Amino acid sequence: MTTIDTARLASMFAAIAGAMSADRDRLCALDGIIGDADHGIAMERGFSAARDAVAALDTGATNPTTLLNTAAKSFLNAVGASSGPLYATAFMRGAAAVKGKATLDDADAVAMFQAIAKGIQDRGKAEPGEKTMMDAWAPAAQAAGEALASGKGLAGSLEAAVQAAKAGAEATKAMIATKGRASRLGERSLGHMDPGAASAVTMIEAMRVALTD
Ligand code: ADP
Ligand code: MG
Repeated sequence: MTTIDTARLASMFAAIAGAMSADRDRLCALDGIIGDADHGIAMERGFSAARDAVAALDTGATNPTTLLNTAAKSFLNAVGASSGPLYATAFMRGAAAVKGKATLDDADAVAMFQAIAKGIQDRGKAEPGEKTMMDAWAPAAQAAGEALASGKGLAGSLEAAVQAAKAGAEATKAMIATKGRASRLGERSLGHMDPGAASAVTMIEAMRVALTD
């Protein structure tokens, strides 16, 4: 059983920020094909701001809920693109899911993960198959829940989430976008991976490493 404290969550945001910086150019290139080429910049900027904001907290004197709400606020302020409110809502929902807890056990961490996915869904109203980040997040959240229920720990659950997110992102290539900027392309969005689904894989993998390795 893993125990995740507030400091560990702060290091998770640092890990995601690092992964987004490393992936920035690929994400911009994907967004350049079906969007406006800024997705890598948005994600790097948003997670760098979240990393800095949570690093400024006194992790000994705060809790996971405050940390996640701080990340949400800074992400929203830093990102003007549509991913800004989507991930801000996601982290606020993650914060609410772990309210009152000083540390997270495996089930708490999976609940936080699933609340993040649900937040994106509620905010963006995208259904699976519409070629958005939901096509990575929805199967990832489901896979994490199933893995946990089948007796796997957090590492196994997040590994299952990563695999499901990868398959989901891959599947967006065969989808026509009907939400967000890419929907303007209609059938011309076919054959290309959705950048938001691609960055979701990067984020979930960074979460897995930061929370379980
Ligand atoms: P923008 O489109 O404003 O430039 P970004 O480039 O940061 O924003 O993000 C684009 C990504 O946002 C898309 O690839 C898609 O995955 C995601 N997205 C757009 N609209 C929605 C929505 N309604 N629900 C979920 N995800 C969405
Ligand atoms: Mg964009």
